[in-house]
Amino acid sequence: MAHMEILVINAGSSSVKFAVFDFDSLRQIARGLLDWAGDARRATLTLSPQDGEEIRREIDAPDYRSGVVAAMKVLSGLELAVEGQGAANRSLRIRVVGHRLIHGGEEIRRPVRIDEEMKKTIEGVAHLAPLHIPAGLQAINAAEDALPEAMQVGLFDTAFFGDIPPCAYLYPVPYQWYEDWGIRRFGFHGTSHAYCTQRAAEMMELEGPVSRLVICHLGQGGSATAVRDGTAVTNTMGFTPLEGFMMGTRSGTLDPGLLLYVQREHGLTVDQLDHILHKESGLLGLSGVSSDFRQVEIAASEGHKRARLALDVYAYRVRAMVGALAVSIGGIDALVFTGGIGENSAWLRSQVCDGLECLGVHLDPSLNENERADADIAQRESAARVLIIHTREDLMIAREARRLALVPDK
Ligand code: ADP
Repeated sequence: MAHMEILVINAGSSSVKFAVFDFDSLRQIARGLLDWAGDARRATLTLSPQDGEEIRREIDAPDYRSGVVAAMKVLSGLELAVEGQGAANRSLRIRVVGHRLIHGGEEIRRPVRIDEEMKKTIEGVAHLAPLHIPAGLQAINAAEDALPEAMQVGLFDTAFFGDIPPCAYLYPVPYQWYEDWGIRRFGFHGTSHAYCTQRAAEMMELEGPVSRLVICHLGQGGSATAVRDGTAVTNTMGFTPLEGFMMGTRSGTLDPGLLLYVQREHGLTVDQLDHILHKESGLLGLSGVSSDFRQVEIAASEGHKRARLALDVYAYRVRAMVGALAVSIGGIDALVFTGGIGENSAWLRSQVCDGLECLGVHLDPSLNENERADADIAQRESAARVLIIHTREDLMIAREARRLALVPDK
């Protein structure tokens, strides 16, 4: 059969990321970015083929949907070397489009084929991620316009947590909040956690999944997941991605009483609080230096006291939550570090593992300093493995999109 491709789309509010994979081998062929960069009517499409030079095109994009349609037309018309090194150039034949969507609510717990009914279901949960879901829906409509022959598939970041038990997803507030308003914990970064679950088993050369796995995804945002026999049991993010770890600019978990206090005593409004907790807290808020972990590490190494404090709080919180997650699944066979910070900061990894010896986690300091993803950095005799994994969310989406495309029509 002729070669075909999978297009992965990650639609943000002011940019859209693309990735193209070979359908059969799941080899990545190209990635791309459509970016409005402040101009409401024109956008720049940058495409980086795996084998070839970067391509840039200015695109008329008076609105989001027509911008994405135009970008997809350019993309599918491009002549690329799509079958590996030295292959003749030809245009892409996109068989399936995998859309990364942030939130599927309680309704969508699996990867799904997208049809008109499913679009309505997605619309129904848009209030849970009002910045992301409308953009995702526009990208779906655009893909239908530009690539009418292709199957559309939705992959939801919350879906990996579709089976977490009520004791992990209920908040101890009046039960009616859950029944009437849908207030519950969901969990986020599921695509990355799902990829790391598969990759950890592969690295440990297991036939099935790792029995007791804790994954720390530490990037601008951050969350950890406890995974038991391949099924997520809980994630540190909750109803929103504000719960859990301290992050670049987000506070993470707080005493809810303090939120009431600052409103009552210091007159902060809901909008002010929203802004502060999302944009002015976390590493930035405590250090006063930056939201960027590497910059805060540099400042701390130059003697900046609040930068040091911010890092210490960050590491302490990760360690404490990892410990709690490990205990929630009865111990730990592997601890994974991923995301920009997890993959790159040896200091953070050593701080997190320092204290987890009681759970059988023994980091090898020299491997921790010198190894790069993907690698096992635990001491040989450590009961638990410690893995650095370079997360590949696009590949995970392509894998799932391919799997769904191969399921016969009912
Ligand atoms: P996003 O969540 O936006 O995908 P990333 O996963 O790329 O972000 O993570 C970004 C974070 O990773 C930033 O805080 C950055 O400082 C941190 N980071 C990247 N490289 C390093 C490094 N070498 N050392 C420490 N932190 C790093």
